[in-house]
Amino acid sequence: MVERQAMPHQDPKERAHNFDEVALGYSDEQALAEASRCLECRNPKCVEGCPVNVDIPGFISRIKEEDFDGAIDTIKFTNALPAVCGRVCPQEVQCEELCVLAKKGEPVAIGRLERFCADYERKRGVTPPARPESTGKKVAVIGAGPAGLTAAADLAKAGHAVTIFESLHDTGGVLTYGIPEFRLPKAIVREEVEYIKQLGVEVKVGYVIGKIKTLDELGKEFDAVFLGTGAGLPKFMGIEGENLNGVYSANEFLTRVNLMKAYQFPNYDTPIKRGKKVVVVGGGNVAMDAARSALRLGAEEVSIVYRRSEEELPARKEEVENAKEEGIVFRLLTNPVRILEGENMTVNGVECIRMELGEPDESGRRSPVAVEGSEHVVDADIIIIAIGTSPNPMIFSGSTGLETNSRGTIIVDDSGKTSLDNVYAGGDAVTGAATVISAMGAGKIAAQAINEYLIN
Ligand SMILES: Cc1cc2nc3c(=O)[nH]c(=O)nc-3n(C[C@H](O)[C@H](O)[C@H](O)COP(=O)(O)OP(=O)(O)OC[C@H]3O[C@@H](n4cnc5c(N)ncnc54)[C@H](O)[C@@H]3O)c2cc1C
Repeated sequence: MVERQAMPHQDPKERAHNFDEVALGYSDEQALAEASRCLECRNPKCVEGCPVNVDIPGFISRIKEEDFDGAIDTIKFTNALPAVCGRVCPQEVQCEELCVLAKKGEPVAIGRLERFCADYERKRGVTPPARPESTGKKVAVIGAGPAGLTAAADLAKAGHAVTIFESLHDTGGVLTYGIPEFRLPKAIVREEVEYIKQLGVEVKVGYVIGKIKTLDELGKEFDAVFLGTGAGLPKFMGIEGENLNGVYSANEFLTRVNLMKAYQFPNYDTPIKRGKKVVVVGGGNVAMDAARSALRLGAEEVSIVYRRSEEELPARKEEVENAKEEGIVFRLLTNPVRILEGENMTVNGVECIRMELGEPDESGRRSPVAVEGSEHVVDADIIIIAIGTSPNPMIFSGSTGLETNSRGTIIVDDSGKTSLDNVYAGGDAVTGAATVISAMGAGKIAAQAINEYLIN
């Protein structure tokens, strides 16, 4: 049996100092070798693990036949963002986890093959999609992240006139302002959004719903509304010193790096503090992205402070490995208790305490418990807090009747319908911070329900 093909990477020593993409993609030969590993199961479990139901054996069999055009068409039938998904989806806990080969060895590298097909199409030139006959119905989509873009694409394919309202000056949501260039080049997101526009979707950027127009107004102007407004409001720890100069939420830090183009220094004079010693608090993908970005901006030492052990780190394993290879220091079983003040209200270190794992909590994970007397100071001039986000309540300004739960997430039924008659929602705004593909899956389910609502 052919072995799972390794992904070529930029050398860790070099890439720690540039924002170019880390993973370089398969060659044709590697893609053919990897595709040859797929057993084309009669009852393919991998498809069940994909929230947007890509015909995985179908596209892999096209690759085997060297029909790369057919392969990308098969993927695009259900997935409008394949170059994005091939790069950032956690396949190891989705399609690849269910691959039959994973029972005894390594699963087929489905994500890498998806990326290969999408990159092939980008090099070849994307075929503009066919536009269906108009139904005469109008749908407003709020938010141009993966949930909104997917809902918009499916609704446009069904013949409805779709307008996306996006508060930022660029589309993509977290794909553009959050995930850094070295994992997901912005040009790729832009091209995939362009494809969705070619389906006839109109995009209005710099348009904050809740300020320029209310949700109630949109609900009257349009036949249906989809809310894909994400969970962009950062959480803080509530400890002393969080108001000091040099403390960032990961959201703000990454927005400055990505959307405000600090990653293109010295060409852009983005206002951002480049620390010498940076401490990032948290253990998810967001923390890894913030740490690795700070390193690339020139920090001498970047450390991750996380209160549980390596086993509980919520970030993708691949990204933890990449961060380690690049020299990010992991201070595990450690929790900040106070940020120390230096001159002019700047950060001058962070006092931390060691933790040990106690009994499991409601989530089933063992709770961290502070070890008395283990306080110690970690040197830092920048602290980046990456401990989670919640939905931004801006969307509710001036509108009535949209029900949310105690965490501020929008309540929906199985079809994505909210408490309002013609308003649907999906993605992080409903689930809280989750994944690109789960947001896309929710966008698809809601688009189908909206379509049924509009044509019946
Ligand atoms: C740094 C970072 C790294 C991540 N890495 C990964 C990863 O590797 N793999 C993975 O699967 N997931 C990852 N995620 C999570 C993933 O990006 C999100 O789950 C996903 O983007 C959610 O999609 P969404 O469409 O629901 O929301 P978002 O992507 O947040 O998009 C919501 C959009 O709505 C807009 N909006 C909000 N309010 C309004 C309003 N009132 N009016 C108009 N527009 C509005 C916002 O500006 C935004 O553009 C990461 C997240 C972050 C922050």
